Amino acid sequence: LIQLANVNKWYNQFHVLRDIDLEVRRGERIVVCGPSGSGKSTMIRCINGLEAYEQGTITVAGERVDQDDDNIEKIRQRVGMVFQSFNLFPHLSILDNLTLGPIKLKRVPRAAAEARAMELLERVHIGHQALKFPNQLSGGQQQRVAIARALAMEPDVMLFDEPTSALDPEMVKEVLDVMIELAGTGMTMICVTHEMGFARAVADRVVFMADGAIAEVGTPDSFFSAPRTERARQFIQQVI
Ligand code: ATP
Ligand code: MG
Repeated sequence: LIQLANVNKWYNQFHVLRDIDLEVRRGERIVVCGPSGSGKSTMIRCINGLEAYEQGTITVAGERVDQDDDNIEKIRQRVGMVFQSFNLFPHLSILDNLTLGPIKLKRVPRAAAEARAMELLERVHIGHQALKFPNQLSGGQQQRVAIARALAMEPDVMLFDEPTSALDPEMVKEVLDVMIELAGTGMTMICVTHEMGFARAVADRVVFMADGAIAEVGTPDSFFSAPRTERARQFIQQVI
């Protein structure tokens, strides 16, 4: 479904992504981890065209990701993204946050968009809050809305960039539970996270990045219990 082949990116002189090769099959769940500054966010932002890259190719469902406007719009509809900060539209109700994209970009009739939005809000256990505004919800609730909003576009794949790292500890579980439920539906997911429990519960593969490159790929079991590189060993000791 997703293919990165020999992707390289620079910020001026700084080589931020080095020869990234990664293939993600439909239905696969990938956890990406690695030290701060290793290029995790940059890599997943390249997958939905939020960042340009200088060398190599990225394709999503056979469509090449480049900076062409029409192309970017198509890719963004296929690729849902959830950020560390929830990025909801503060002036819109929860319901309107979910229906805006489908109505504007996919021309879904309002009634159908609202019905679908309510289904998704139920799915993330927040249906009763549909008419509130983002600032009336807790961080964990807002992040679940952000997940539902991305799902409202019916994406082929969901990207998560440290979705729980800005949350108070007691709210982390409710968001991870929603992500685990989503994994159970067969959604293709690429999640940047250091939540080892989540990785062990759902990841098919763990991708470990260091210095802009993919340093190791393995099953959660093999990666966490028997990392092959010293970098990975050090990293795992820190996150345990
Ligand atoms: P973290 O765990 O802290 O989120 P990360 O692995 O997601 O780290 P990135 O955000 O991808 O790392 O950043 C990789 C490197 O690129 C870092 O050294 C960062 O300082 C640098 N960088 C990121 N964005 C820019 C930018 N817009 N201009 C210049 N350098 C940048
Ligand atoms: Mg990051």
